[in-house]
Amino acid sequence: MEKFICPHQFNYIRVQLNQLLQTVYFAGDYRVYAAHRLGVRDNVLSMFPQLGPSEIRLFDGMEDVKGQSEIGEFMQRLEPYVIPFPVLEPDNLRKLFPKVKKLPLPDLAEVNWSKLSYFGWRDIATNTLFVVTRHNGKLIGIRNRITSLNRPGVCCVCNHSGQDVGLVTTVAKASNYTTVGNHMCLNTITCNAAMTSLKGLVFFVEQAQRQR
Ligand SMILES: [Zn+2]
Repeated sequence: MEKFICPHQFNYIRVQLNQLLQTVYFAGDYRVYAAHRLGVRDNVLSMFPQLGPSEIRLFDGMEDVKGQSEIGEFMQRLEPYVIPFPVLEPDNLRKLFPKVKKLPLPDLAEVNWSKLSYFGWRDIATNTLFVVTRHNGKLIGIRNRITSLNRPGVCCVCNHSGQDVGLVTTVAKASNYTTVGNHMCLNTITCNAAMTSLKGLVFFVEQAQRQR
């Protein structure tokens, strides 16, 4: 069976199951729980309209989870089918940011690529947030200046507010462009873990592309 689950879809499934668990404990009404069970299955399967019977079978029992350990086991079952982000080497990164001399590199050995919808890292010395993502089928690098740290706001990519959300502006290629600021998680690992849709990332990338 081929890999068919995107990392943000994997997160979405986990969120759906956690919400179902809340209903198990707090709804107190079997009908609410029964409706929620059906809803979870519909929500999850509607993300994958092209699945064959063996893929659909992977989701069997999803709506029966009754505890965190069962959610963990179920997510483990899905994990081999997650499409990872392309594994990047230092040379790939240097090519994606040709204008940056002595690109500060993160520790790539630590990266779990199967958890990423985009790759990013923060360089504290230069106050920069580097983002690598796919756009029209190829990888692009987006360099962002962090203009304000820990500013209260909602991350435009994952839609969560957290301690680690800052204001960033994309560094434009030409100086005659006005850059627009966005709130964004400065910790790209937690941002990726919170993403349940690609909408925010697409918005961010399109806006950045207009400024380049
Ligand atoms: Zn985020």
